[in-house]
Amino acid sequence: MAENAPRASNFIRKIIDQDLASGKHQGVHTRFPPEPNGYLHIGHAKSIVLNFGIAEDYQGQCNLRFDDTNPLKESVEYINSIKRDVQWLGYEWEGKPRFSSDYFQALHGFAIELIEKGLAYVDFSSQDDMRTLRGTLKEKGTNSPFRDTSVEENLQHFADMTAGKYKEGECSLRAKIDMSSPFMCMRDPVIYRVRHVHHHQTGDTWCVYPMYDFTHCISDALEGITHSLCTLEFQDNRRLYDWVLDNISIDCHPQQIEFSRLNLEYTVMSKRKLNELVVEGHVEGWNDPRMPTIAGLRRRGYTPGSLREFAHRIGVTKMDNQVEMGILEACIRDDLNEHAPRAMAVLDPIKVVIENFPEGETETLQAANHPNNPDMGEREVPFTRELYIEREDFRESANKKFKRLVLGKEVRLRNAYVIKAERFETDAEGLVTTVYCTYDADTLGKDPADGRKVKGVIHWVSAAHGVNAEIRLYDRLFQVPNPAAEEVFADALNPNSLQVVQGFVEPSIANAAPETGFQFERTGYFCVDSEFAKEGKLVFNRTVELRDSWAKMDQGE
Ligand code: ATP
Ligand code: MG
Repeated sequence: MAENAPRASNFIRKIIDQDLASGKHQGVHTRFPPEPNGYLHIGHAKSIVLNFGIAEDYQGQCNLRFDDTNPLKESVEYINSIKRDVQWLGYEWEGKPRFSSDYFQALHGFAIELIEKGLAYVDFSSQDDMRTLRGTLKEKGTNSPFRDTSVEENLQHFADMTAGKYKEGECSLRAKIDMSSPFMCMRDPVIYRVRHVHHHQTGDTWCVYPMYDFTHCISDALEGITHSLCTLEFQDNRRLYDWVLDNISIDCHPQQIEFSRLNLEYTVMSKRKLNELVVEGHVEGWNDPRMPTIAGLRRRGYTPGSLREFAHRIGVTKMDNQVEMGILEACIRDDLNEHAPRAMAVLDPIKVVIENFPEGETETLQAANHPNNPDMGEREVPFTRELYIEREDFRESANKKFKRLVLGKEVRLRNAYVIKAERFETDAEGLVTTVYCTYDADTLGKDPADGRKVKGVIHWVSAAHGVNAEIRLYDRLFQVPNPAAEEVFADALNPNSLQVVQGFVEPSIANAAPETGFQFERTGYFCVDSEFAKEGKLVFNRTVELRDSWAKMDQGE
């Protein structure tokens, strides 16, 4: 499979190649640093495949580090889901998972070092004053009145901050850099703030918490990271990343390299927005199969290999773009086409009665699990007098293009016999309920002996042995390609993103394990839902249609 093909190079790999060739580094050590404030999404998968993939290819290491400096929004549920998702994608982090909070003591020490060097000060300005003094992109900032407080006083104030003497917002520790810098992040950024909150890892030990920009570079350095890969919005912050490491006593200085975030059409990719969808009940949870989360895609039937393949196909650049949903879908379609066993399921059933087949009898037929892979074996399919076929596969009359069952004509039942529609019944509304047929007993696995041509093939399920199943048909979650650009993104939700139907599946798959994927012949790729399986209920999720309906839509079909 394409997954085993040599990796396409990218600008990050080129930098690494140079660093190894020049002897700057002897090996590669990357990290994936999620904040545990939500479930991981497909954008994170891009970052995971990049970081862990590079480590793997260069025989290096990749750490998993929870960037947990904002305890209010974080939780252990998220920590656990993140670990599960990274492992499910097929990666192993080096050693134990790390936490930025593991370094709170060290970070505090480095903050004191900056104060001692006259490079940080405690500012008692109000939030409003700080904002005003910071200036704008066009106007320089103004020095805070607390900027020139003596080192001794600053040490005392920081000690008092740490001891809990100040309320939240009363003061903060700022790096003393340059209030006239064109980079806003260099205008004396806050590096520590007061937060009287419990932390999921450190409990009530701290009431001051380091800010992300201060924490991240030091955590990278403490872990001996060689290349710190992040998304483009941190480009400016690279100055601060380097400034902090240049001004504290630490030997390691990782190189920050930015790449563009993944944006995917018809969905949103920010944890805040995804959280809103969950909290406001627009979806059934973080792992709703319509969500772009790894947990949602997994439940939908995506495989780890398909998501890794997607990350490889989109590549890594510095260009911002929006990836078409069709690219993601092609990855899972290719994977399942090759690996998923075939099965038959009828999603919108009408009954077929084969009048010349004996009542109460069952004939056991054999069907290949995969048309091109005999190694996948065969299964037994029961054939009976009463069957279900798809409503759309029968018409009273039709032109030659309709290669399915037409009154008075023949069609082949997949894996079984040729049947002929003799008459049919409708209900009060005129909807077809039953088609009465005859079958040609001499057509199992062969064409009719007299040379009659039967072109169409339709799928079916025995009415006596078919198993009732709920089948969930998903469509895109949003109606517009870029919902994040809408004023109220939730207004752009697709009201028809989920359609639930009651169908019948062949008995061979009734006990398939949760998440097992199948190609339901002629209808699409489906998998056993894992949540409903816990309740003992047989539910299938449509992973993806057989063909790219998005491309068709774009062509106006
Ligand atoms: P969000 O906006 O969803 O909250 P985030 O960047 O705050 O995303 P983090 O948990 O901090 O989320 O992200 C962990 C890592 O994943 C970071 O290195 C981040 O750059 C990367 N990442 C996050 N979103 C994307 C994306 N859409 N594409 C590529 N990488 C991403
Ligand atoms: Mg972040």
